[in-house]
Amino acid sequence: QPVAIVCVGMAGSGKTTFMQQINAHLHGKKDPPYVINLDPAVTHSPFEANIDIRDSVNYKEVMKQYNLGPNGGILTSLNLFATKVDQVVNLLEKRAAPDPEHPARKPITNILVDTPGQIEVFVWSASGTILLESLASSFPTVIAYIIDTPRTSSTSTFMSNMLYACSILYKTKLPMILVFNKTDVKDASFAKEWMTDYDSFQAALAEDENNNAFGGQEGGDGMGSGSGYMGSLLNSMSLVLEEFYEHLSVVAVSSLYGTGIDEFFDAVKGKAEEFKRDYQPELERRR
Ligand code: GDP
Ligand code: MG
Repeated sequence: QPVAIVCVGMAGSGKTTFMQQINAHLHGKKDPPYVINLDPAVTHSPFEANIDIRDSVNYKEVMKQYNLGPNGGILTSLNLFATKVDQVVNLLEKRAAPDPEHPARKPITNILVDTPGQIEVFVWSASGTILLESLASSFPTVIAYIIDTPRTSSTSTFMSNMLYACSILYKTKLPMILVFNKTDVKDASFAKEWMTDYDSFQAALAEDENNNAFGGQEGGDGMGSGSGYMGSLLNSMSLVLEEFYEHLSVVAVSSLYGTGIDEFFDAVKGKAEEFKRDYQPELERRR
């Protein structure tokens, strides 16, 4: 049974570049994946998708026809595409089984899904939910949450990124891998340390406070990170997140250079097992 890997993350975090890299990796292993692009707004896709939302809906036309802005256009395109999800799953199931008419064609072992740049449009919409749930009801499905490591290196951006990932975990109820991307620009060891060692995060908070990293005025307005309101908020949130971190796999990659991709697939293996053991029975119970 193939594993579905759904790439989500903030706009510009590198989802599409990461997809291209894991796609190339699997091709290199002579194990070509089945690739689905759900971003209707992407103008240039660096990989060939087997199913592309752009083949069935024209995002620009949707915007014009329904008089919508970019986000409304993406959402409406996703809604239109979601009406075809049964056909998509049927296609996938066919490709996941041996084909007696094409005995040379190997059943697929990976399904890769790219999602719109605007993460909220996918994660918090009815159609995004339908697409995810349909996938997860047929295949072990894992979320790859892509993070722009250089842009998440302050304690406050790190914390808000982790909270967003946390809310996606609870919304989708699917196993999650945190993918720290762009590690060619900034090493992700700081993040791994913050996630495993509470004291080191505390120390970083105190340092940000000293550097006035939160734009607090000279002399302190109580909004610094290490003390006052922000400090105690970030403090208690990091305790909540400790529980969240327990459930995650963390990998550091560079989608530009292809480093860390083997580790990512190791994590996928682990999470797919977890899906079968912990998530699938729960999904079946809820149905
Ligand atoms: P998406 O909006 O999440 O799909 O992000 P893209 O894949 O389009 O990437 C956004 C920008 O980040 C592009 O300019 C990429 O070249 C760049 N980028 C993506 N991955 C990496 C990486 O690993 N290292 C560096 N230095 N840049 C990257
Ligand atoms: Mg993209």
